[in-house]
Amino acid sequence: MSRAIYLYNTSSRLKELFKPIHEGHVGIYVCGPTVYGDAHLGHARPGITYDVLVRLMRNLGYKVRYVRNITDVGHLENDADEGEDKIAKKARLEQLEPMEVVQYYTIRYEEAMKKLGVNPPSIEPRASGHIIEQIALVQKILDNGYAYISNGSVYFDVAKYNRDYKYGVLSGREIDQMISNTRELDGQGDKHSPYDFALWKKAAPEHIMHWPSPWSEGFPGWHLECSAMSAKYLGEEFDIHGGGMDLLFPHHECELAQNTAARGRGGVRYWIHNNMITINGKKMGKSYGNFITLDELFTGRHPLLQKAYSPMTIRFFILQAHYRSTLDFSNEALQAAEKGLKKLFQAVRDAARIEATSPTPSDAGISGLYEDIYDSLCDDLNTPVALSHIFEAVNIVNRVKDKSQQICTAEKVLLQKIFKDVTQDILGLEDEQEEGVGSDTIGGLMDIILEERQMARAQKDWAKCDALRDALAKLGIKVKDTKDGSEWSLE
Ligand code: ZN
Repeated sequence: MSRAIYLYNTSSRLKELFKPIHEGHVGIYVCGPTVYGDAHLGHARPGITYDVLVRLMRNLGYKVRYVRNITDVGHLENDADEGEDKIAKKARLEQLEPMEVVQYYTIRYEEAMKKLGVNPPSIEPRASGHIIEQIALVQKILDNGYAYISNGSVYFDVAKYNRDYKYGVLSGREIDQMISNTRELDGQGDKHSPYDFALWKKAAPEHIMHWPSPWSEGFPGWHLECSAMSAKYLGEEFDIHGGGMDLLFPHHECELAQNTAARGRGGVRYWIHNNMITINGKKMGKSYGNFITLDELFTGRHPLLQKAYSPMTIRFFILQAHYRSTLDFSNEALQAAEKGLKKLFQAVRDAARIEATSPTPSDAGISGLYEDIYDSLCDDLNTPVALSHIFEAVNIVNRVKDKSQQICTAEKVLLQKIFKDVTQDILGLEDEQEEGVGSDTIGGLMDIILEERQMARAQKDWAKCDALRDALAKLGIKVKDTKDGSEWSLE
């Protein structure tokens, strides 16, 4: 690979040079949604962050296998070992089969991701489709002595594991401190210790999703599916495991412990975590009244929203912050992002039309910009710095347009490459005004139409000139006559 990528590894708490385990081939696993409700802002950030990582790696020539799971069983309320299954609860309330809930919200989630420009993963496995693998993994952990059976359920023995390995290394938690901070909870009678976690749970009679196992008719613990499915599709050792910071503990910590207890090693080379989104400075949550789904954002139908925000505005807004920083949503910030994105795409369209009039390279520093953009993306996905460089390219296009800067042909090509390779291919920002037609095509068509109009002008056929201008105006294209001809812009 020609360029080195540095990634911040939660495991080492250091920015490390990325080296794939298998030369030229990268395995990435990201924890996907639990599909019991509409996709919301909290899904947009990991969706977009890991999409950009995959796009960057593919752009640099890596072959990437990207696995993002769908949790459709075992995720209990409050991420705990007790309580109702989130999907079963929704099914009960809506009088649906659990798999109807799963199907409905999986499709809604995928549609929302598609609108945000998030490419589908290579494999999207479901927990309920991997019960056999999960039972085998529980058996392995039992055989190795790091789990115990209690009343038909199987629990991970954290204290035993902690003596042989160390529990809490990923999140930096000290288990001794955890013990002293944990009070005995009711309803955990089957566990030897409150910080043990369920690998398999015996189903209560009212529990509708259950499968036979050597221990009981029951269902897998939430953390188990990711240990089983990542190994199945990426191998027992793979490159990158991603997810939101909220999954770091207990979910990823437990995954790491399960992997190690079963196979003697953690199995993940780089752990990556995106930070959280806040709304007007507050944590997002149903109890705060600021829980916004992606659909509500796209349509503006939420009391906190002044207007609708397009999927690309959301994407651009998310990329304006580094994935490890918190990000605060507000109407002001979204409207600023909307304005910035509009400016960017005007320049993308203009870049296809500006003229390269200089015979030699200019002093605009365009080739340096191209390198700077890649360098920032390879520096732990620093999208805000990459975007600031992209806006330097926007400023150059605008200077060429108003004739205060001259560039040569090679520089024009490079500017277009910045917009094509980086803005579109890696950052995944698409011009929403074009609705699927490439900027080159629109630019070319506009050249033909404006030439036709120019000829009508030369022949003083004012009726035709006006008719063409009005027809374009109806499509939202504004034509301005100048002394050298005509200019156009999208409104
Ligand atoms: Zn997971």
